[in-house]
Amino acid sequence: MITLSPFKISIFKQCPLRYKFHYVDKLYKKYKKDRDYLSFGDSLHRTLRDFFKISFNERTYENLEKLYRKNWVRKGYSSLEEEKKWGLKGLRILKNFYEEEELKIKPFLIEKSLKGYYRSFVISGRIDRADLIKENEIIVIDYKTGRISEDKELNKISAVIYKFLLEKNYHKKVIKIINHYLLFQKKVIYTFGDKEFEDYLNRIVNIGLEILKEKEFPPKKSNLCEYCDFSEICPAYK
Ligand code: SF4
Repeated sequence: MITLSPFKISIFKQCPLRYKFHYVDKLYKKYKKDRDYLSFGDSLHRTLRDFFKISFNERTYENLEKLYRKNWVRKGYSSLEEEKKWGLKGLRILKNFYEEEELKIKPFLIEKSLKGYYRSFVISGRIDRADLIKENEIIVIDYKTGRISEDKELNKISAVIYKFLLEKNYHKKVIKIINHYLLFQKKVIYTFGDKEFEDYLNRIVNIGLEILKEKEFPPKKSNLCEYCDFSEICPAYK
């Protein structure tokens, strides 16, 4: 039985050979590279996680900044100068977040990994934040720290996975999934009717079947190769 997560599906869709290096040959640890944008994303996710864990009256901007400094991940920056630039960018993001967002909410859950069975697959994913807005209704917030993704299909697949996992594990209705692009203060909202939700679950199953059937794992070169940890052993990357 294989596990399907938004990340795993995105890697397979991006390049089957990358998927093989990562999940079949399990070379991830050996070739993993520290990268500035990953450290930056981690730092912001950890900061917002900790910020919503403290009580309402402690949620001041000073405390937000303190948490950011405490959670700052230093790996992957090419120089101190670069690290400082990223650090300041994060401060601007947090300032905007603090000014624009509703800070008094009590999240239903924060940074939680969930699993659930669907047909012959295990579906898994990590939820950044989910808020209960009525007794039985939930919204999911997925923080994005990079560019706005244009892969609508993949965004919808991720949203469906989050909805599925929350509904399966907590028996509450997920009414929307928000991709919150922190850098641009932009929110992309996904909602699903029953039919569309079911269709997407079927698509996820089909991707799982495609992975199971794959024998060749061909390379698929694209502009994403520069972010691939396996480029040094990839025969297609020159
Ligand atoms: S470098 Fe490109 S083609 Fe090669 S494995 Fe990575 S993503 Fe695939």
